Amino acid sequence: MLIDTHCHLDFPDFEAERDAIVARAHAAGVAQMVTISTRVKKFPQILAIAEKYPSVFCSVGTHPHNADEELDVTVDDLVRLSGHPRVVAIGEAGLDYFYDNAPREAQAQGLRNHIAAARITGLPLVIHSRSADEDMAAILSEETGKGAFPFLLHCFSSGAELARIGVELGGYVSFSGILTFPKSEDLRQIARTVPTERMLVETDAPYLAPKPFRGKRNEPAYVAHTAAVLAETLGMSEAEIAAITTENALRIFSKMPRL
Ligand SMILES: [Zn+2]
Ligand SMILES: [Zn+2]
Repeated sequence: MLIDTHCHLDFPDFEAERDAIVARAHAAGVAQMVTISTRVKKFPQILAIAEKYPSVFCSVGTHPHNADEELDVTVDDLVRLSGHPRVVAIGEAGLDYFYDNAPREAQAQGLRNHIAAARITGLPLVIHSRSADEDMAAILSEETGKGAFPFLLHCFSSGAELARIGVELGGYVSFSGILTFPKSEDLRQIARTVPTERMLVETDAPYLAPKPFRGKRNEPAYVAHTAAVLAETLGMSEAEIAAITTENALRIFSKMPRL
């Protein structure tokens, strides 16, 4: 059994065949999924999906791309909305300096608000970090100093130093289809340095389909391909990696029941 810790089932890409997507995930051994919020404004739609499918849970939060549009979402709002039984995480929030879709100050403020909500609720913060290693490391170190909070670095594609600091601060590292790409040898090397009890797998569907589906629409069923490459990278069996990453997911997403 596997858990896809990060997908976007509310995206229009899936609208016409969401039932089939969830069924295919189950058939591929993906027993549970977390569909991740990118706009609090759209939270009702995400929650509806998590309420419809017993195997799908959700988060609440604002993606760094939309940070400037949702700075009026307060820490209290996040805490209140996350009280729903289907909500198992805060985020995704973070820093994306690759696209810089929102001003960096807005991204940082959004991230800090989400950190505060994670600290209060004890729910894990799903962190999106791209081309922002130094600022992310600085904010995580500073905020952890004010009080620990559970977090994971999702779709990890940053440098070895951020992985090291994230783990040192108590965080988890989640690997996506990027791990399977031929050119991702650096990332596979980083995976070898992450303690096994801190690693997760995800799809980030509909984006970043793993080999052999690269360039096509991704879906939760394909997380098995990323898990297989992680197993190969670490010299472990696929069954071992499935068991390890599932236990890790249930530990960090502590509110999510084992199905
Ligand atoms: Zn992301
Ligand atoms: Zn995402």
